[in-house]
Amino acid sequence: MTTLPDTSNPFPENVDQVFTHCRVATMAKGNYGIMENAALAVSGKSIAWIGPMDALPETLGCKMVTNCRNQWILPGFVDCHTHLIWAGSRAKEFEMRLDGASYADIAKAGGGIVSTVKATRAASENTLFDLASSRMAHFLTQGITTVEIKSGYGLDLDTELKMLAVAGRLNKACPQHITATFLGAHALPPEFASRSDDYISEITQVMLPAVKHQGIATAVDAFCETIAFSREQTRQVLETAIVLGFAVKLHAEQLSDSSGTAMAAQMGALSCDHLEYLSTEGAEKMAAHGTVAVLLPGAFYYLKEKKVPPLDVFRRLCIPMAVATDLNPGSSPVHSMIPVLNMACLLFGLTCEEALAGATIHGAKALGLADRKGSLEPGKDADFVIWDVASPADLCYLTGITPVKMVVIAGRTEHRSV
Ligand SMILES: [Zn+2]
Repeated sequence: MTTLPDTSNPFPENVDQVFTHCRVATMAKGNYGIMENAALAVSGKSIAWIGPMDALPETLGCKMVTNCRNQWILPGFVDCHTHLIWAGSRAKEFEMRLDGASYADIAKAGGGIVSTVKATRAASENTLFDLASSRMAHFLTQGITTVEIKSGYGLDLDTELKMLAVAGRLNKACPQHITATFLGAHALPPEFASRSDDYISEITQVMLPAVKHQGIATAVDAFCETIAFSREQTRQVLETAIVLGFAVKLHAEQLSDSSGTAMAAQMGALSCDHLEYLSTEGAEKMAAHGTVAVLLPGAFYYLKEKKVPPLDVFRRLCIPMAVATDLNPGSSPVHSMIPVLNMACLLFGLTCEEALAGATIHGAKALGLADRKGSLEPGKDADFVIWDVASPADLCYLTGITPVKMVVIAGRTEHRSV
């Protein structure tokens, strides 16, 4: 879809940089919003102007001009669901699964998440920071400019706080914008075996107040599933979180229908994530309460799941569909948005335009950041990527290559391909 540039918007006087001779997919309103033969101006950390080349003044009074040579500019990817901080490896579990063990089998046998918990508890804060920093550095080369990071591999107060402290350090050290989410209700820690209600009390009475006190997370998440926590237990976590002033979200309906989505949507959740087993009733609650559907095809792919999320219902009810890497060591060790876009199209049936909107503007919506991130519009943060592709669809079509030319975050060039 081509949007005619708004020529009533004159070129502003004071800009710092202009990117000329480009093709732009703004992704505003969830559409490509294509402008050919365009220019984009940056003032400070924000986009100042986007318009046609022939609307540029004859002399640009700014310091820096970049000729994009007809390459494409899209918003930086917003990865709204990751578990990017962890220690240890789950390659062994991958091999077990190839031998026939299911996700549930591995969880029941004390493997899966619990093995990552053990390694993450044992790792120092500096070790976790170093591991996560290198993942963030790789994300930058993949055009990912905003990242949500969850805790949830500590499952005790000290390690959960350690993970969130690492997320805070990453936010200062890395160019990307990071939002931190507390996910204490990710799995039942071994010391609370058969006492899941006691662990939920530990979360609501000890962990959540401590996280709030330290101010190191803005959102709270939980895993509502037969192998994790019940709807009632996750309700307690989200209710306490809301009272404390956190935004909430939920891992729901991944492996079965627990009706967690309907509950979370009614509580005002920003997003519900996974959703393969979501009922129409659950989707209607999402639509009624403005909850974003976060689709995670990487986990679907790695777990060799068969049931796909109800895209036709999302489309009919106009529920925004975000797409995220779900980067984690167990079910989605996917360190790039590019293969996830491809999986979203081929496994779930999204169009290329839907997948790209999912990784940009709808990802930003899922984080409550749509006023600043996810699309190219004047006033928004100057977070964008110049791609050496023939069309935006190439980003969904090609795999095994990330054709990034330049990554700009808050107006600064943070990465250039060699
Ligand atoms: Zn997750």
